[in-house]
Amino acid sequence: MNSMKKLRILFQNNQDWVASKIGKNPKYFEHMAEAQDPSYLWVGCSDSRVPANEIVGLEAGQLFVHRNVANLFPHTDFNCLSVLEYAVDFLKVDHVIVCGHYGCGGVKAAMEDNQLGLVDNWLRNIRDVYTRFKDELEQISDQTARYNRLVELNVMQQVLNICHTTIVQGAWARKQPLWIHGWVYDIATGSLKDLDCCISSTDQLEDIYRIRFSK
Ligand SMILES: [Zn+2]
Repeated sequence: MNSMKKLRILFQNNQDWVASKIGKNPKYFEHMAEAQDPSYLWVGCSDSRVPANEIVGLEAGQLFVHRNVANLFPHTDFNCLSVLEYAVDFLKVDHVIVCGHYGCGGVKAAMEDNQLGLVDNWLRNIRDVYTRFKDELEQISDQTARYNRLVELNVMQQVLNICHTTIVQGAWARKQPLWIHGWVYDIATGSLKDLDCCISSTDQLEDIYRIRFSK
């Protein structure tokens, strides 16, 4: 009964929201129903404290969003690939933003050895990042600082994973402008940090990952 009441609150919230949107712009939903034209694809964490649109001040219709545990982009994941392909090939977004966050439970779990379930296989992607940067990470003695650094390195790896796809390299081969960014959100302050690892052309990739498209 209690949970029913709680859900009723969500419907009430919805109607209040509809009223406030229409109050400001009577044609708000009419326009929204026509089409979406977002300039950005957001790849973020499912964490409830990182509401994509809200932290970058964008309205509905302006941000195409994909979220999963620890903002991963495994190169064989059809969900990720489908979202990316749709965003790049059909919506023609200009920017893809991978946004991790300090205090990420997924990254923390990957640094520990507790068995959690299916998610352990998903977190394996972060353990691969850890292994790749083991020397750098293990020089950091402070546990929180090491964990924060892994959050950042994980974001940078996902940026590369996105750039290594045929989808992104195909866009660049067609001269479609596309920037892939890596950011971190600080839950404790609300601020975003740019990791300055933006990639916008094949030249910035390691040779082995470059794909030559025949005309
Ligand atoms: Zn997270």
